Amino acid sequence: MRYAHKFEIYSGQENLEKVPGEPDLGATGNVVVRLLRGVPRMINHIIYFDNFYTSLPLVYFLAKQGIHTVGTVQQNKIPNNKLPDRKTFMKKSVPRGSYEEKVSTLDGVDMSCVAWKDNKVVTLLSTYAGALPVTEVSRYDKAKKETIGITCPFIVQEYNKHMGGVDLMDSFLGRNYITIRSKKWYLRIFFHLLDLAVINAWVIYRKNAMERNHHKKNLLTMSQFRNELAFVLCNKGTSKETKRGRLSTLEDELQSKRKKASPPPKDIRTDGAEHWPTVGGSLRCKYPKCKGYSTISCSKCGVNLCLNKNNNCFVNYHKE
Ligand SMILES: [Zn+2]
Ligand SMILES: [Zn+2]
Repeated sequence: MRYAHKFEIYSGQENLEKVPGEPDLGATGNVVVRLLRGVPRMINHIIYFDNFYTSLPLVYFLAKQGIHTVGTVQQNKIPNNKLPDRKTFMKKSVPRGSYEEKVSTLDGVDMSCVAWKDNKVVTLLSTYAGALPVTEVSRYDKAKKETIGITCPFIVQEYNKHMGGVDLMDSFLGRNYITIRSKKWYLRIFFHLLDLAVINAWVIYRKNAMERNHHKKNLLTMSQFRNELAFVLCNKGTSKETKRGRLSTLEDELQSKRKKASPPPKDIRTDGAEHWPTVGGSLRCKYPKCKGYSTISCSKCGVNLCLNKNNNCFVNYHKE
């Protein structure tokens, strides 16, 4: 999954700010051009978009800038495309998985347009991918009541592979969001962006962990990550003790018991702030490499740790 890189909030005023050399490609084409302003040219970046954005002038303009594209497209947006019309293509005699490709070159820019028959006809346009090589994808055949393999052109695979990230982001945003419902539009935008930032952070966290060969099974899920992030943001660098002169409420005590049940996250354990030793009952030392018992515990982490002539698990625990 990829992360969100840039966004634009629709206000109706976006088009007023013009950059020299940018053509007017209509409302949707201009959105793409604006979002791509910071993307380096001429190093074969590939951009994917759906048929809301795809048009021949946009695809041609970007190709001239050294940015390639793959997008679904409405057939009527490509004049004289010579592709079979939808009705003929959807006839039962044409098997599912059939496709037709038309290629053209305009001023040095090669474009491929492919219509592919899945459960409906999808048409795609690209300056770098064409129909070949084809692979096979499995689909459920309603009439035969079984899974069948159908031909799938390269351009479709490329599109699905990379557009998947967009759908994933949307579905994560749909399942994990701040539940504060404000009527103020700017707060709604703020919370939305915060949600987006959390998902981005999680995507990068997973990417980093995988690159360091951590096993996928041991990584935090999206909701675990959110919980830990909230906990760390609320506790990092603070003392767990209640302020002097204030009696702790029952709720505070329950909270502190709850925290004691599970070990604190690493960011808290190693933050170096107000981990005071206190003396109490003897419990097993929580430093992983130690099997001893200790009466000394950390006031913040709520775990017992050795602190004696032979062992200083207290320091080790807070350093590693
Ligand atoms: Zn501690
Ligand atoms: Zn110990």
